[in-house]
Amino acid sequence: MLLKELTINGFKSFAKKSDLLFSSPITAIVGPNGSGKSNVAESFRFVLGEQATSRMRGKKGEDLIFGGSEKVARLGRATVTATFDNSARVFPTDFDELIIERTVARDGSNDYTLNGARVRLKDVLEMLASANIGTTGHHIISQGEADRILTASPKLRREMIEDALGLRVYQYKIAESEKKLEKTHENIARVESLRRETHPHLQFLERQVKKYERALELRDELATAYADYLRREAAYLAETKKTLTSTLTAPREKLAQLMQTRKEAEQKIAGQSEHHDTDTLSAKQGELSRARHERDAAARAEASLDGQIGFLERRIAHLRAEHAKPAPAVLAAPIAYDVFATTYAHISRAVEQALLSVSLDEVKTTLRNIHTSLGALAKRAEVAPQKSLDLSSEEGELEELRVHAEDARATLRAVHERVQVLEHQCGVLRAKIEADTEEARELRHKVELYDHEIRELEREITGLIAQEDMLRRDDEAFNAELQEAVVLVRSKAMQYLKRPVLVDGAALDDAAIAALPREGQLERKRALERLKIRLEELGGVNEEVIREYNNAKERDAFLAKELADLGTSSETLLRIIAELNQELTLRFTEGLEKIDEAFNRFFARMFVGGVAHVLRSFPKVKAAAQSAVVSDDEIPEPTEEDDDAEPEIGVEIDVRLPNKRVRGLDMLSGGERALTSIALIFAMSQINPPPFIILDETDAALDEANSRRYGDALSVLAERSQLILITHNRETMSRAGVLYGITMGQDGISRMLSIKLEEAIAVAK
Ligand code: ATP
Repeated sequence: MLLKELTINGFKSFAKKSDLLFSSPITAIVGPNGSGKSNVAESFRFVLGEQATSRMRGKKGEDLIFGGSEKVARLGRATVTATFDNSARVFPTDFDELIIERTVARDGSNDYTLNGARVRLKDVLEMLASANIGTTGHHIISQGEADRILTASPKLRREMIEDALGLRVYQYKIAESEKKLEKTHENIARVESLRRETHPHLQFLERQVKKYERALELRDELATAYADYLRREAAYLAETKKTLTSTLTAPREKLAQLMQTRKEAEQKIAGQSEHHDTDTLSAKQGELSRARHERDAAARAEASLDGQIGFLERRIAHLRAEHAKPAPAVLAAPIAYDVFATTYAHISRAVEQALLSVSLDEVKTTLRNIHTSLGALAKRAEVAPQKSLDLSSEEGELEELRVHAEDARATLRAVHERVQVLEHQCGVLRAKIEADTEEARELRHKVELYDHEIRELEREITGLIAQEDMLRRDDEAFNAELQEAVVLVRSKAMQYLKRPVLVDGAALDDAAIAALPREGQLERKRALERLKIRLEELGGVNEEVIREYNNAKERDAFLAKELADLGTSSETLLRIIAELNQELTLRFTEGLEKIDEAFNRFFARMFVGGVAHVLRSFPKVKAAAQSAVVSDDEIPEPTEEDDDAEPEIGVEIDVRLPNKRVRGLDMLSGGERALTSIALIFAMSQINPPPFIILDETDAALDEANSRRYGDALSVLAERSQLILITHNRETMSRAGVLYGITMGQDGISRMLSIKLEEAIAVAK
């Protein structure tokens, strides 16, 4: 016996723990109406994982739990345990017993255990399916459900038959594979979406990496170009600096020398100009001029005095001569000496001035003045009577004049001598000055020549300094370039130090490099600038991008691999599903043929004749669509079935009762329907016998003769499956090895007890 025991605890009316031991191939459960017999059948459904509460006459999970009665409180949970013998390893577990337990709580939650270990419903179903205990319940026929297989849709009927044939395991596997396939497709869609999402970024990174690689190439190119340029530039600068320094030395030295010579000449010239000869000469000349004037004045004074002396001597002589003559007219009024002297002095000064004057007009004016003075004097004179001659005054005056004249001569001599000395001195000085001026002229000429030479040298030096400035700027530019090179090509910037400049395979030295045409270097500089611009155009891509790209690529590769794996999984699953479907179809076809044959046999036995068949059917819609005539320009509307590769196969039943013309299920009476369904259920159970079959009052509609035939069929069935029969039928009871009687007392609790046939018959009544 596979089914060993059923324990019901808290399930529906079984508030107390009740055990049913299945020690006989046929167990009958009997009892009055409402005692709880059907609850036992439902407890089987429950423990075997039934999910439709309606199939256990409930609306929700808690309807399955003892709800309490007037005397007994309701329970919180219901537990049903089924114990199977697994010594023959019918179930794929190493235990000799398989204990399945299901508990439902009031909150509707369910717990399943297999041999005490908590499992999922799926595990329970799979375990049961492996022993051909399916979920469609073809082996549990509830009260009034005997003809369920007749009323069921072809599709459900097919499922029931599949179940009976033990093919549900294929359906599970197919469903599971389809679920996996769906999950795989979801994953494929997710991964594809992920890849689509990351693709633009990856492409962007790819472009960045290419840029980076291009930048690396350019940097190498730049490093080489820098090395060449800097090497040449360094050589050019060093050589030019050397040349310039040495070129500047000579003119600088010469300039210093010239400046010194010039300074000395200047000092000499300055020394001469400091000499007082010229001043002395001009002073002497002034002195000479004054001395000459003095001499001339002295000469004029001497001449005047000599004139006065002469005049006075002639007057004295004249007076003496006149006095010696008869008295001439005399002056009417004698002229006083002071008047005469004043007039004389006046005239004498006028004459002196006239002598010094160069202007004729002045001379004339002087003469007119003299004339006027003489006229005035003449008017005062008148002829006077001759008097005795007194010449003492004249002689005294004459003596005085002679003294003056002598003084004047002495003065004239002295002045004359001084003039001569001064003239000599001036002559000497003039000669000396003349000699000095000649040397100075020569010196100045030399200074001019020096200046010219200095200017030339300065121009030369200025030119060289300008070159030096240019070189300095070149040097600064070189350093700036080197700094930039360090930034752009890092340590490679220093490669120039060891970089040879080759011409015909031979390395040039600095001097030879510096001698090369400068245009080439300028072109190299331009090429450098072009490279820098190209590098700059590539933008600032750093190594981080490479890392990011590698990560992104790795991730994309991972996703691609995952996608490929998922693709493979999908293909594998599709293949598995196809194979399972193929196997299922094959087994189903074979099984159905066998059922058909058994059905026909049971049917003929029960109805003593007649014909019954089960046959495969295809959905009508599909059939209609297949047979529909569609014109060329009409596009048929797609039907649900069109989407399926395989049309849904159903199972149709065709029966023909003996001695009756009518055909088909609709024409059968209640009892005939019961017998037909029993024949089919028995046929199904024959081909792939389930470990147990529960029949809840399947025999209710049978008359005595049919009950006997039903009983016979049960005996055949019991050969291969345990039967648990809920019945009021005496014939059926008589076929059972073990009988359980169920009673329900006032407390609304079902109780179970093992009874004898007689007791059972009594209980059933
Ligand atoms: P019949 O011979 O008329 O078919 P039966 O013996 O099969 O009757 P059941 O239908 O199994 O009787 O039992 C019905 C009884 O179980 C009812 O009395 C009902 O009140 C009781 N019952 C059903 N569900 C519960 C529940 N959740 N709690 C308590 N009692 C319940």
